[in-house]
Amino acid sequence: MKTKKSLAKEEAAPRLNFKTSWTYQPALESTAPARIAGRYELFIGGKFVAPAGGKYFPTINPATESKLSEVAEAGEKDVDQAVRAARAAKEGAWGRMPAKERGKYLFRIARMIQERSRELVVTETLDGGKPIRESRMVDIPLAANHFFYYAGWADKLEYAFPARRARPVGVAGQIIPWNFPLLMAAWKIAPALAAGNTVVLKPAETTPLSALKLAEIIQEADLPPGVVNVITGAGATGAALVAHPGIDKVAFTGSTEVGKNIQKAIAGSGKRCTLELGGKSAHIIFEDAALDQAVEGIVDGIFFNQGHVCCAGSRLFVQESVAKQVIRRLRDRMETLIVGDPLDKNTDIGAINSKPQLEKIESYVKAGLAEGASCYQPECALPKKGYFHRPVLFTDVAQSHRVSQEEIFGPVLAIQTFRTIEEVVEKANNTPYGLAGGVWSDKGAKVFSVTSQLRAGVVWANTYNKFDPTSPFGGYKESGLGREGGLHGLAPYLELS
Ligand code: NAP
Ligand code: MG
Repeated sequence: MKTKKSLAKEEAAPRLNFKTSWTYQPALESTAPARIAGRYELFIGGKFVAPAGGKYFPTINPATESKLSEVAEAGEKDVDQAVRAARAAKEGAWGRMPAKERGKYLFRIARMIQERSRELVVTETLDGGKPIRESRMVDIPLAANHFFYYAGWADKLEYAFPARRARPVGVAGQIIPWNFPLLMAAWKIAPALAAGNTVVLKPAETTPLSALKLAEIIQEADLPPGVVNVITGAGATGAALVAHPGIDKVAFTGSTEVGKNIQKAIAGSGKRCTLELGGKSAHIIFEDAALDQAVEGIVDGIFFNQGHVCCAGSRLFVQESVAKQVIRRLRDRMETLIVGDPLDKNTDIGAINSKPQLEKIESYVKAGLAEGASCYQPECALPKKGYFHRPVLFTDVAQSHRVSQEEIFGPVLAIQTFRTIEEVVEKANNTPYGLAGGVWSDKGAKVFSVTSQLRAGVVWANTYNKFDPTSPFGGYKESGLGREGGLHGLAPYLELS
């Protein structure tokens, strides 16, 4: 129990020097298990094929700026080939296959992801810059779990949607971002296949490798040709896929801006659409919360994966009576964060995914300072090469500041204070987004009252960033349309009659 006296005592106590309290020896993961080839082709109709235009683009390791491989750039012709292959599979072997057999393929993919997990973990970290600890603990196991989970649904659709007839929508065009490359591919592919659809997937330009390795797994698992097609390229490839008349559904995860363009592009076409877009999620800490636990959750919520998380808790609202203590504990915790080589198992904050993303984060930090917010960053050396950014804490933030309104997608936390529940609910909801939120309090009734008033798709209580394939995920307002995960994630891939 925190009394005024104990809080005052804590404030007056000398600060520990965390930097000198302990040091870690580097614990580097070997890059050998990644087995990255010099060049990757497109995966169309069950085969790896060269792009019609003969163009390739490099994918780099953002932690070293060195080239990892070159990847085929799909043009309109390739997109067309991929969509045709998906259609043929839908109308052919896959469409005729008993649901129970479909499920077996999904199980097989899940098992093979597990078997090749070390390779996928290292690949994900090399291509995207995320700490190896996270690729190992979050990305790859969760990706396998999505295939396991949806494998179970394939032959149970009549139980999932009782008294209704469930038929697949057809061919899905799926476009994913760079922050959780394999996991996003799994979120998209697993429910689509379980429901009997075929897919064309376009990974992000900066992180294509794990999706291409998933294509290898799919080939090895012996899925009928064309059930899954992977076409690599930049935004233009995604736009060509969205515009192709042969797709029945678009599933997109990415920025709100591109999501809006996609909606415009398909308006009136009859194509179905689900969108998982940006966020500016709020953490709320009440004075009765377990503060250390809350601080740990805040750190995890915004500095985890360099803040490259759509549901990152990038705004923090702290009740005024505990604001000083929370800010102090946050600063102390930030001093202990290790920023650096993503292959080091000690690393907490790895590389920013790309140079443009790093520049975007830097410009927001400048904007925050120019608007009058106070900035705190721990003193830590950054690697000489690669794209890195120290974690940032903004205090003295106003609701109107850009750092509290716009999605930064980097390790930048903006803190404001509040006095009453009404005030904090109003402030937390005052954003065009509505993806996620976190509430920290010892009082269950308060937690339920606040979580039910927040206009956000997922709200965690006394924890943050917990994911499970059984649980639906998605946004309100400009954070998106539709849900992924759980039973809810199957519905957009089905015609229910
Ligand atoms: P992005 O620029 O919107 O890109 C997402 C994907 O769309 C990429 O594959 C991209 O290709 C492609 N693309 C770009 N322009 C396109 C167009 N005109 N038509 C079709 N596809 C196009 O987003 P990002 O910067 O990669 O990712 C960060 C954003 O994703 C953040 O806003 C984040 O909040 C959001 N996100 C949301 C969720 C969620 O579940 N709500 C999850 C993760 C991320 P290129 O990469 O080659 O440009
Ligand atoms: Mg890369």
